[in-house]
Amino acid sequence: MPKITILDPQTANLIAAGEVVERPSSVVKELVENSIDAGAKRIVIDIEEGGLASISVSDDGCGMTGEDLVLAFQRHATSKITCSHDLRRIETLGFRGEALPSIASISRMSVTTRMHGDLKGSRATIEGGKIVAVEPAGCPAGTTVLVKNLFFNTPARRKAMKSPSSEGSLCGELVSRLALARPDIRYEMKIRGRRVFYSPGSGRLLDAVTAVYGKQLAKEMLPVSSAEPGISLTGLTGKPSLSRSSRSHITITINGRYVRCPVITAAIEEAYRFLLPQGRRPVTVLALTVDPELLDVNVHPAKLEVKLLEEKKLPTW
Ligand code: ADP
Ligand code: MG
Repeated sequence: MPKITILDPQTANLIAAGEVVERPSSVVKELVENSIDAGAKRIVIDIEEGGLASISVSDDGCGMTGEDLVLAFQRHATSKITCSHDLRRIETLGFRGEALPSIASISRMSVTTRMHGDLKGSRATIEGGKIVAVEPAGCPAGTTVLVKNLFFNTPARRKAMKSPSSEGSLCGELVSRLALARPDIRYEMKIRGRRVFYSPGSGRLLDAVTAVYGKQLAKEMLPVSSAEPGISLTGLTGKPSLSRSSRSHITITINGRYVRCPVITAAIEEAYRFLLPQGRRPVTVLALTVDPELLDVNVHPAKLEVKLLEEKKLPTW
């Protein structure tokens, strides 16, 4: 066996990217999550060629200083946790400090950002993980991340992509889920500058459901809510007339995070067992709020799954 060496940061970032960035929609997810963590109330996503040619995410969040902007591209650089203890109680969507360096290592990227109250902003340009320029920039308060030529230096991954229209649909589907997860945020999705989706950010789930699924479907949804110490649930769930052949219309969020959660999905389907014909799935959007200490979000590379600790102690309503 050859001698062990410690990989250089660029190679380490490429390896992390392999886990975090499966396809364009993973980039959209990471960037939008960063915008949400930055307190954004308005997020605009614009893609070209299904995100393979370009993805831009702009927000009106807190922005970054020029110094932080450079730091943000280092591996494990995060403003969201400071020690291992914090991992037990994650209240932000991100915490690993992996997304920006990972995405930067497999694309041509620029980040333009200005803090509210600062007169000048800054822009960093990164290619294949190398910072090629950092300069002052005139820009609105908030942050715009532009990711071009995704996977330009990882041809095998690039080849594994579906058609631009399929990748674009996956991005659109993800933005819909994010809009359902956070009805208080105004989302706008564009393709080559043309708006294809808009959710008003009114804070009302019904408005987000209307934006995603249309008025007709929204009319057939009924409110649900329940609360126990340490956990509560609110949402909208469809009348049996709204069934689907797949689980595409089941959205579960936990503490504002869109997740796939087989245990809860199974519970929802169980509740509909005698209401829907066999093989049909309900339309439902459920938002759970649990004590962050009862939730392990550090179990999946793209944070798409979470682990509910002490699952057995959960109420059965
Ligand atoms: P994480 O989200 O896990 O902290 P990221 O690599 O996604 O790691 O981001 C690194 C850091 O860059 C974040 O902790 C945050 O401080 C900063 N950052 C990233 N995106 C934004 C944004 N849109 N607005 C403000 N700050 C941001
Ligand atoms: Mg992040």
